[in-house]
Amino acid sequence: RRFNPEKHQWLIAERRHIDEANQQLAPYSPDFDDIYFNPENGIAESEHVFLQGNDLEQRFNDVHQDTNKKSFNIFETGFGTGLNFLLTAQLWQSTQNKPSNSELHFWSVEQFPISPDDLRTIYRVLGLESELTQSLIEQYPDALPGVHAIPVAPGITLHLVLLPLDKALREIAVPESFAFDAWFLDGFAPSKNPEMWAKGLLHFMALNSKKGSTLATFTVAAVLRKPLPHYGFRIQKRPGFGRKREMLTATFDDKELSPPKPTLADDYVIKHSKANKVAVIGAGLAGCATAYQLLQQGIEVHLFDKEATIGASATNMPSLVALPIMSIDHNAYSQLAFTGFEHLRSFIRQYPGLAKNHFAHQLSNKKYSQFHLEQYETTYSAQTWASSMYKFEPIAIGQTGVEGLKIPAIQVNGPEFCQVLIKELAEDNIHLNNKIQNPEQLDGFDHVIICSGYQLPKISLSQQLPQISPMRGQLTTLKTKLSHQTPVNHDGHLTHFDNKLVIGATFERSSDDTIRREDSLRNIEKVNKRFGLGIKEKDIATEHPGIRATSYDRFPFCGYLTRNQKQSIWVNYGYGARGLCFALLCGEVITNAILGNPSPLTKTLLSRITPRRTF
Ligand code: SAM
Repeated sequence: RRFNPEKHQWLIAERRHIDEANQQLAPYSPDFDDIYFNPENGIAESEHVFLQGNDLEQRFNDVHQDTNKKSFNIFETGFGTGLNFLLTAQLWQSTQNKPSNSELHFWSVEQFPISPDDLRTIYRVLGLESELTQSLIEQYPDALPGVHAIPVAPGITLHLVLLPLDKALREIAVPESFAFDAWFLDGFAPSKNPEMWAKGLLHFMALNSKKGSTLATFTVAAVLRKPLPHYGFRIQKRPGFGRKREMLTATFDDKELSPPKPTLADDYVIKHSKANKVAVIGAGLAGCATAYQLLQQGIEVHLFDKEATIGASATNMPSLVALPIMSIDHNAYSQLAFTGFEHLRSFIRQYPGLAKNHFAHQLSNKKYSQFHLEQYETTYSAQTWASSMYKFEPIAIGQTGVEGLKIPAIQVNGPEFCQVLIKELAEDNIHLNNKIQNPEQLDGFDHVIICSGYQLPKISLSQQLPQISPMRGQLTTLKTKLSHQTPVNHDGHLTHFDNKLVIGATFERSSDDTIRREDSLRNIEKVNKRFGLGIKEKDIATEHPGIRATSYDRFPFCGYLTRNQKQSIWVNYGYGARGLCFALLCGEVITNAILGNPSPLTKTLLSRITPRRTF
């Protein structure tokens, strides 16, 4: 089955099963001819089978008390309505008597997501409305394949994997040193939905469990019960819920398994040395975002830059705009950009006011012809829930009326964004005017992350740094103002910032970072020609040249590179013109790999960004 949101209008058929007056609800899938949970009391069923079946209350209490154990990790097959997730998150919060830095990570796989509007109805009827459900619905991802991380509440992250289960199990990058604490097996009945109970799942569970990991499920079907002991699980039957006589729980003891076949994504799942102290070289977008992600995990970070200020180079722009990158087949680059955009959006949510705009209009340009844009309207409006996006809208620029495809976007001021990223980094840990010649001079650091942008440091390493091409871009701000205020992406951007019109940027292979008047004139000529504006040279307010670091295949270089005697060396650069979109995601990819946590990206995408793809 392919993603087909058309099939998910099940609630229309389903509404017959919702009796709001009697608080009755029986979400039902016509595809599988099965219900999502017990129609009489779904909440009590979920608590009985999954929460009590995994002894979660006691175990959550233990985690909250234990100062060493930082996280509890659950893996669910079948997110469905999210009922199991929400009850688990509620239990996590209610067992947390005092503030702690422990984290709940809930991974859930779903091939056929339910729309947020339908979820809202379900939660209302179940009487589950709360800050948690509100936050989940607001941040619920579009129905696009991949891993979607949703920070639902402080210390609670839902990793919603929108893929068929067999593919998800191959794609999720779980490090060797990591184990899930509990498994919720909640596909539809094995007779109706055999893909959710296949041997591949048992193999994955055995590989990613530790002694004492538990499993709970509503079914005692032989397809599951019989092979479980061969995969190291000690099974136990318990009384089932309601009319179901029995259910199954199991505890993992041990199992020797041959490791999965090597792939290019392996550098993100092998055990790295401990991270006591990490050096980040480069204080632009990539460096600041990486420092932010490491700090979030309580790691001591030091940020070094040869320049005198934070965000001095390519980031030093009055307006940066992040856009998801569309493609007809939602290819790997689009998947990466959309995932990056989601991580950026979650971050921005914590700082209302930091982003000046939340959408943009895409016009046809060299890359996107009108034909392509129409295709994207069809593809993306079918895969996304927010009906106001991915639709053509008339917009007026100057005297010209054009049609623009409305797409999500985030616009920030470069230096302001960097300052917010590093606001919790102690002054003493920021080392400006500090050129690093050799990582080994950084005594006491066990990891060094090179986030240098286009000027790769001339440092001695056993492995050559992946090379990038410098792409010069100059933005021009103008004293002029237009009535259309939100960003427009044509051949470059046209937007407003601080009451000025911002146009550009140019695109040219060069590392000259000096201001060039002719570049501003080119920016002006382009918008005058396309939109019939009468902008003159005297309208120029400021000019902002910057150099983008561009990789040979447009994908960033983000991951482990090599090791010297003292340290592991990582690289994180080559974002091209997508710095804002990629920075937080890439920072998290490296942080999770260092800490031995599952990656926020699929193995397919990791194999596209590893710096080792070039050798
Ligand atoms: N845990 C859910 C809840 O709390 O509402 C109920 C899950 S429901 C019983 C089973 C889910 O498995 C459905 O949402 C269905 O779309 C999903 N599913 C079925 N086959 C799948 C497959 N091959 N891969 C991923 N998800 C699948």
